[in-house]
Amino acid sequence: ISFTDLVNESYKRISEVDGEIKAFLTLNQEEALREAKALDEKGVSEDAPLYGMPIGIKDNIVTKGLRTTCSSQLLANFEPMHDATVIHKIKDQQGIIIGKLNMDEFAMGSSNENSGFQVTRNPWDLDRVPGGSSGGSAASVAAGEVLFALGSDTGGSIRQPASFCGVVGMKPTYGRVSRFGLVAFASSLDQIGPITRTVEDNAYLMQAISGHDKYDSTSANVDVPDFASNLTGDIKGLKIAVPKEYLGEGVDPAIKDSVITALKQLEALGATWEEVSLPYSKYAVAAYYIIASSEASANLARFDGVRYGVRAEADNLLEMYKKTRSEGFGDEVKRRIMLGTFALSSGYYDAYYKKAQQVRTLIKQDFEKVFEKYDVIVGPTTPTPAFKIGEKIDDPLTMYANDILTIPVNLAGVPAISVPCGLVNGLPAGLQIIGKPFDEGTIYRTAHAYE
Ligand code: GLN
Repeated sequence: ISFTDLVNESYKRISEVDGEIKAFLTLNQEEALREAKALDEKGVSEDAPLYGMPIGIKDNIVTKGLRTTCSSQLLANFEPMHDATVIHKIKDQQGIIIGKLNMDEFAMGSSNENSGFQVTRNPWDLDRVPGGSSGGSAASVAAGEVLFALGSDTGGSIRQPASFCGVVGMKPTYGRVSRFGLVAFASSLDQIGPITRTVEDNAYLMQAISGHDKYDSTSANVDVPDFASNLTGDIKGLKIAVPKEYLGEGVDPAIKDSVITALKQLEALGATWEEVSLPYSKYAVAAYYIIASSEASANLARFDGVRYGVRAEADNLLEMYKKTRSEGFGDEVKRRIMLGTFALSSGYYDAYYKKAQQVRTLIKQDFEKVFEKYDVIVGPTTPTPAFKIGEKIDDPLTMYANDILTIPVNLAGVPAISVPCGLVNGLPAGLQIIGKPFDEGTIYRTAHAYE
């Protein structure tokens, strides 16, 4: 099969199913086919695992000349002037960008229902959400439209949709992957990561996008190991911690069962597991919504109708700002900006933002303590399988509570993967494997042995 055939297959599948799934916002067909043809003419398949592979990109990662909307009406016409570092890296390996994928507006949400354009559907059940915010990325891989996708994860946005759609999603250690060109939501939490069908593919895309970047001051200057070298199947002697908070109240009993079954399989492969506690994780959602909303309120100030995207008509500058932002942002984005602005305002800073940062430190210490004795932490990715479209959208607090098992990981800055772990009532469940900082290798080793 030629690269042109492969890329054509991807677009053929999109034309067959995306009318229903609605994962893609923008296609890159002409350019993708031009690139595939060039690779066919070169006639070599170099030793780069992504060479000629069809890849979908979440629409908050900037792509030169290719519309990048963050699923916001405010950026409906925005064509970036440069590529994000991760896009450069994919192009260096001759990966082929198929198009841009739907998400919750500015990555705020857990269902894709907050997109300013369309609601992506879960390929397993079209009445259900694909998860979010990287719902388009997870659905496109699950529906066989692309083999690889990039998502971003601030509080669970790679792992939760991966879990809901039955695919593999990795949230790297904070600083492992450059955020240059990722439209910022909460800068101290955001990470780009790979969503794929298999753990092996995941390790390849992760390899391609990792590494220090001088354009991102929070990017870590640490060596990137060969992730694929961990795919040995050998986990003899691996020490697993299972937090009791992750199998407690509020977690669907059928989800618990699927995790217990997974733990037995890991045990049969030579690993051991013990129950531990992450006592401060119960405060994670509350702390997250203060920290993430505060950072978002500052980051989204740049969308003023002057520098990027759509500009509303008005008589004077202040009116123009107001009208652009009132018309351009959706309800959830406005809710977060107001919450964040309030939490950062003088007189409230100590009570909310500072307190939340203190809680964040306690949560990080919970993880550090467990990792003194154990190699990985294992639990479910989400408390329930994919919920119905419309089920939670009118109740933000219930929606926020869905991220209770993924958010502590972002606050601590550690890496975690979600791998498929059986079906619950015909819907995929996800096993979350959390690792030590910069030890994605052990996560891949565990996930691959389990898979
Ligand atoms: N669902 C969470 C939120 O709405 C996480 C989103 C994300 O990870 N980008 O903030």
